[in-house]
Amino acid sequence: MKTRSRVMATTVKLGFHVSISGAIDRSVDRAKELGCDTFQMFTRNPRSWKFGALENEEVEAFKEKRRDSGIDPVFAHMPYIENLASPNEEIYERSIDSLSAEVERCRVLQVPYLVTHLGSHLGSGDDKGIARVIKAINITHERSDECVTILIENSSGSGGNIGSSFEQLKQILEGIGNVQCTGVCFDTCHAFAAGYELKTLEGLTGTLESFEDLIGFDRLKLVHLNDSVGGLGTRIDHHEHIGLGEIGDEGFRFILHSRLSRVPMIMETPVDDRRSDLDNMMKARRLAVS
Ligand code: ZN
Ligand code: ZN
Ligand code: ZN
Repeated sequence: MKTRSRVMATTVKLGFHVSISGAIDRSVDRAKELGCDTFQMFTRNPRSWKFGALENEEVEAFKEKRRDSGIDPVFAHMPYIENLASPNEEIYERSIDSLSAEVERCRVLQVPYLVTHLGSHLGSGDDKGIARVIKAINITHERSDECVTILIENSSGSGGNIGSSFEQLKQILEGIGNVQCTGVCFDTCHAFAAGYELKTLEGLTGTLESFEDLIGFDRLKLVHLNDSVGGLGTRIDHHEHIGLGEIGDEGFRFILHSRLSRVPMIMETPVDDRRSDLDNMMKARRLAVS
């Protein structure tokens, strides 16, 4: 709690993607040390298909620590290797099983939201990829009795990745039967790289109007607050520290005062020695009140 008092309080809920290295409940310790109001984590190794079952003890330790911390809400992020848009039947089936397994892990851990990438059509075309994604999420929802809200994350559009436009996200949302348990995660780096202007007030306003028209702010449950190494429309998915990238301080000030800031904002900024997590937190809090 010592670090928390050094970081000024804001009405914006801010947090980080934190590591579960050591044990799942260690994520809560790390989030507390960084003064997080909210956080995101992987519940397992994001680069492997294999994972062990959750032990009762680790589940209880996580739930208790999370409750005591008062940090809320918590988000889980899907591993990286799944591809819900894959034209390859075997990979596709495995990806659906993996998404279903992750929904179950979230249910057990009492994590209400699960962020997923939509995957790449790998050359089979947007329409086929989108149909695959819709089917995958519908199957996953059908397999679960409880509502873990699946958040579809916008992409930068590189390598055939689905979901780089609001039109595509809308198309996917319209195909999903269980509307109640589906929402959107808006990543600022991905959106900017996909061509959505965010760094000028005029540009941001236009982007948010388009989001409201096509998707609706009621569907927005989470913002990934990342600056972008690549310029507008470059399709480069490369995150930068807050203010040090192409969106810049000015852009983040607008973002942190916009409608986007009414939902939790999670930073997935680089881990290097140019800027610490704590400094990104202070930077974001300062821009949110200035
Ligand atoms: Zn993501
Ligand atoms: Zn993201
Ligand atoms: Zn990214």
